[in-house]
Amino acid sequence: MINVTKTYLPDFDQYVSYLRKIWDKALLTNNGPLAQELEQSLKEYLKVDHLYFCGNGTIVLQMALKLLDEPGEIITTPFSYVATTNVILWENCTPVFVDIDPQTYCIDPNLIEASITEKTRAILATHVYGNACDVEAIENIARKHNLTVIYDGAHAFGAVLNGRSLLSYGDFSTCSFHATKLFHTVEGGVIIANDAKWHEKLHLLRAFGHRGDDYYFVGINGKNSEIHAAMGLCNLPLVPELIAARKAVCDVYTELLDWSHLESPHWVEGLVRNYAYYPVIFESEDKMLAVRDVLVKNDIIPRRYFYPSLNKLPFLKDAAPCPVSENISLRVLCLPLHAELPHEDVGRIAELINQNL
Ligand SMILES: *Cc1c(COP(=O)(O)O)cnc(C)c1O
Repeated sequence: MINVTKTYLPDFDQYVSYLRKIWDKALLTNNGPLAQELEQSLKEYLKVDHLYFCGNGTIVLQMALKLLDEPGEIITTPFSYVATTNVILWENCTPVFVDIDPQTYCIDPNLIEASITEKTRAILATHVYGNACDVEAIENIARKHNLTVIYDGAHAFGAVLNGRSLLSYGDFSTCSFHATKLFHTVEGGVIIANDAKWHEKLHLLRAFGHRGDDYYFVGINGKNSEIHAAMGLCNLPLVPELIAARKAVCDVYTELLDWSHLESPHWVEGLVRNYAYYPVIFESEDKMLAVRDVLVKNDIIPRRYFYPSLNKLPFLKDAAPCPVSENISLRVLCLPLHAELPHEDVGRIAELINQNL
């Protein structure tokens, strides 16, 4: 079977050597030496001054929302993974969906201002598929209306925009290190805050809001473990190779697929891509479903990612329509992509798709 993704596993003996260090110290969690080492390495790789290695890519979004002065309306994208909307609801805020740009599939900045009210607190946007949101336009709007900008950068690891890590933009950027992501720690995530005033607060927020006997505010358990940090330390040095191997897979798809019947996102100028996903948009939902059937019959499992458009989630009431996102959601498939996917398989997948367009 060829799945949409396959978790990269590092050298087993290298991982075991980290496990031996953990066993020797008998320190398994609570900001241990490997978690600190991983944070240091991530800071160097991403070229950011402060970041916090946390339990997953969802809790870090909750932590960012928790730092708002009060709950309210959060302007957000309908074209993302459900976690982006869930965290807003979980933190007792109201998601206000703003449609996406038909080229980049990221939130359309031209539509944001019309949705701002006196209850708006933040903009939570996703760098979808590792493409970049219009960070400049979003920052200008946020400054003008005194809003916090949070980027769900779960897809953005390794992507660089105008010479800076895509995860360095916004008031807060988060990433997921889940096993299905480009860089993973089995489960894990990270939050980056640009303003130094949040650094100490995030450190405390992640660990129940206290240091020793001093209790500051309501915190949460956002920590991650030494066992997970060890996986990250094995995988991080391999990221450039993994991205190069993914790029090679993507290049084969791009060369072979029949673009007279397919579309792909327009990758923004100034972006060095990370090749995290390979989305293709079919002419209609019927055509997409027909191709998916053929692929599945051949033991090839693509993914409807993202479907449905999040404004159509069954548990939401009164969400604004988002015609562009709804339309793309119906027609998109993410094709199998991982660093070790044989190019012959890519060729076979492309041929099966082309034959059924
Ligand atoms: C994977 C993902 C998340 C959630 O990350 P977890 O680490 O699984 O909690 C959030 N947002 C987006 C866009 C994602 O793809």
